[in-house]
Amino acid sequence: MRFATKAIHAGQGPDLRTGAVNVPIYLSTTFKQDGVGQFREGYEYSRTGNPSRASLEATLAALEGGEYGLCFASGSAATSAVIDLLRPGDEVISTIDVYGGTYRMFRQVYAKYGIQFHFADSADPAKLLERASSRTRMLWIETPTNPMLNVHDITLLSRRRPEGALLVVDNTFATPFLQRPLELGADIVVHSVTKYLGGHSDVVGGALVTSNPEVHERCQFYQNAVGGVPSPFDCYLVQRGMKTLEVRMKRHQENAAAVARYLVEHPRVGRVFYPGLPDHPGHEIAGRQMTGYSGMVSFTLAGGRSAVDRFFGRLEIFTLAESLGGVESLTCHPFTMTHGAIPAEEKLKIGITEDLVRLSLGIEAVEDLLEDLDRALT
Ligand SMILES: *Cc1c(COP(=O)(O)O)cnc(C)c1O
Repeated sequence: MRFATKAIHAGQGPDLRTGAVNVPIYLSTTFKQDGVGQFREGYEYSRTGNPSRASLEATLAALEGGEYGLCFASGSAATSAVIDLLRPGDEVISTIDVYGGTYRMFRQVYAKYGIQFHFADSADPAKLLERASSRTRMLWIETPTNPMLNVHDITLLSRRRPEGALLVVDNTFATPFLQRPLELGADIVVHSVTKYLGGHSDVVGGALVTSNPEVHERCQFYQNAVGGVPSPFDCYLVQRGMKTLEVRMKRHQENAAAVARYLVEHPRVGRVFYPGLPDHPGHEIAGRQMTGYSGMVSFTLAGGRSAVDRFFGRLEIFTLAESLGGVESLTCHPFTMTHGAIPAEEKLKIGITEDLVRLSLGIEAVEDLLEDLDRALT
């Protein structure tokens, strides 16, 4: 099956009993045992396992080209399941422009358990490997990164990583339609399904996919033991969203490419960050490991913070809001919003300046989006 077909069929055949074409939302918390310990399809209690969740997990695994999927109540809960693979003294190398909530979790939650986190400058991916030592157990990357859209070479990191270190890729920005890290040598893929996979800004959720049975077993244990599971209804929403992932992504990136081209020409715009632009430093690697450049564009605005506030105030279609990846176009101010938890000097070092604006291009008519930007930039 090809990608678009898998998104609609993998892990989600018609209901065996009724023939219902969509996977039922199994709200039941518990399941009858025909005798003690005799479960009909292995289901016992819905934190441990639920048919609506299992179906979504199978679909996600199929889309990422992995063996096992696990769903969580948020991307952050999925991230914590992966970090739980580590022990005190272990070292993780990540990048300074990793998702702000991930940075905060690493620094303010897990560092206190004796896990060490190093954050490399992601504009120069070679720096990541320079930080590695014999205690490095994990490389944690996003590609493209948020909000600078830096690109990491997954194959290269997989080949050059220190012995015994797991390569984890947060694939939220690319989605499996554009990039499948497991096929490029990563061990674990993490998602905030809140973004493109759900796709409609109406459900918070997370997932991880792996083909490593030990990782799967350990993370599944964590999923049940700690209990940050999504509701069956949320699983349904994500599964429904993913059915249109391919058509949505095509439109998201078409719109992003058109907006990036427009911004490059605009006299009030400084730098434009979009991996689809030929002069973007990650353009060539992105071209090799992705089948498109996704729907996120960042840019700097002449006139500093006051120009940025004026721009936000004049927009009519773009909504000033956190998050990304929905059908509606959003904009945000990374310096104070998504990356508010990162110290100012760290942000400035990596280019998250006060005049930086991030756009998440939705799937509206591109003419309306360009007109809206034109109005707001005038
Ligand atoms: C939003 C996001 C997360 C966190 O996911 P939640 O669902 O908000 O917990 C992690 N990584 C990236 C790249 C994100 O955009």
